[in-house]
Amino acid sequence: MIIITQPSATEAQIDSIVARVHEFGLDAQISRGASRVIIGVIGAEDLVREKPLAAMPGVEAIVPVLKPYRLASYDARGKASAVAVGGIMIGATHDVALICGPCSVESEDQIVSIARKVKKMGAKLLRGGAFKPRTSPYSFQGLREDGLRYLAEARAQTGLPIITEIMDARDLPIVERYADCLQIGTRNMQNFTLLKEVGRSRLPVLLKRGFSATINDLIMSAEYILSEGNPNVLLCERGIRTFETATRYTLDLNAVPLLKSKTHLPVIVDPTHGIGLRDFVPRMSLASLAAGADALLIEVHDSPDLAKSDGEQAITPDTFADLVPRLRAVAQAVGRAL
Ligand code: PEP
Ligand code: MN
Repeated sequence: MIIITQPSATEAQIDSIVARVHEFGLDAQISRGASRVIIGVIGAEDLVREKPLAAMPGVEAIVPVLKPYRLASYDARGKASAVAVGGIMIGATHDVALICGPCSVESEDQIVSIARKVKKMGAKLLRGGAFKPRTSPYSFQGLREDGLRYLAEARAQTGLPIITEIMDARDLPIVERYADCLQIGTRNMQNFTLLKEVGRSRLPVLLKRGFSATINDLIMSAEYILSEGNPNVLLCERGIRTFETATRYTLDLNAVPLLKSKTHLPVIVDPTHGIGLRDFVPRMSLASLAAGADALLIEVHDSPDLAKSDGEQAITPDTFADLVPRLRAVAQAVGRAL
């Protein structure tokens, strides 16, 4: 940490700042410039309570040297991490994984039929919601354990590992019984109690960015999970709220290269929720891949117009079939493979 003093700071004030640094058990290295003094704090930065120090007379600014997310930061590993989801590696590999499925599991026939189709076209993982976070309490809330059972049946028939959302820590034992990966949805990205609970799970966690959360907020939420001992976190950009209303959200593809440089964690993009309009999902999927996504999460439904949730943004298996070769071409162009 570096402390920058005000040009008007007196010698007595500088002495007090240095004395305070010593009280924290740290050393201070003083450099005198033409108008300011720079105090370099040497030692474990987290011993310092930054706010009281920043409020001391004579202090202009405090610049932390270390990132607040020490486990998630790229430097913590010095290379990208791969996370295994039911045997499929995501991140730090040449391959980009396609994660597909309907927004909600609606019946056994529905999920098995979609799973079979997307698997044939190259999907590596199946995703469907059994516990649904809906804006209205009157909307379809999911089939709960029945939905999990149907997902497990689809996995048994196709071999696709399954990802499903958990909304409440009390459901963890039951979701863990069926799932290969836990999804934390956008609305729960800062549910710190839930993050700590899934941080103690043996399953990997797909953490979606809160639609009003900054990139740093997302990384700090990942840090909650990592700090509880679960090293298997996948970050997911899924669109944020902006002033734009022509699309459901604004897919922030800036987040992809940024997250990959700031952290070692795999980065997934969900272009479906990001734009929210099915006609444009293929194009934004291509863009997500070009931006460096390690996996894409795409909602696919046999009959989008009859879907119990998010039908307006789901693509059909036929559209997905048409998209896959184009994704392959883009993957190749950016040095990846599908
Ligand atoms: C979903 O994946 O269907 C979902 C509800 O996602 P999000 O939390 O990003 O809205
Ligand atoms: Mn959805």
